Amino acid sequence: TPELQRAEGLIREIPDYPEPGILFRDITPLLADAAALRAVTTALAEPYLGRFDVVAGVEARGFLLAGTIAAMTGTGLVPIRKAGKLPRPAASVAYDLEYGRAEIEAHDDITDGTRVLLVDDVLATGGTLAAACELVGALGGEIAGTAVLIELGALGGRALVPGVHTVFTV
Ligand code: 5GP
Repeated sequence: TPELQRAEGLIREIPDYPEPGILFRDITPLLADAAALRAVTTALAEPYLGRFDVVAGVEARGFLLAGTIAAMTGTGLVPIRKAGKLPRPAASVAYDLEYGRAEIEAHDDITDGTRVLLVDDVLATGGTLAAACELVGALGGEIAGTAVLIELGALGGRALVPGVHTVFTV
């Protein structure tokens, strides 16, 4: 749609951030634009409407999209946080990064049978989203869907997250 095309044009490319050689996709100009924010959050949730109870977003940019989708669709919001930030984590999953390891945690607001739409801003290697799926499963939740704003196609992250819905592929 023209709205989505315009939204894609608002993603800013920052060379050599956070490290030399990385081309960082900065979504803050898109978030700041009312029509673009509405277009992308609508597109993220659209395939799953009526089939999820909560939206879970991965710290930190995933929170922004997840909260907007939850408010727009009348569903709940669950933050998936980096280890050590939540006061009473009920599950945690460690996973490999390009360099080193990371760990994510969630509270037991996801429980047996909770239908979860999992969202993040960028799918790179897929490690983060795959770990988030595992975390939801460890709490007894069901993945209603996974949705990502930007897929970095060359990194092949889709292989780790079968069926992931992406709005923009670059
Ligand atoms: P992955 O685990 O798929 O390799 O990396 C995905 C995670 O890294 C996401 O949580 C995402 O926020 C972050 N990320 C990786 N590259 C970029 C980028 O170019 N722009 C933004 N905004 N986030 C990125």
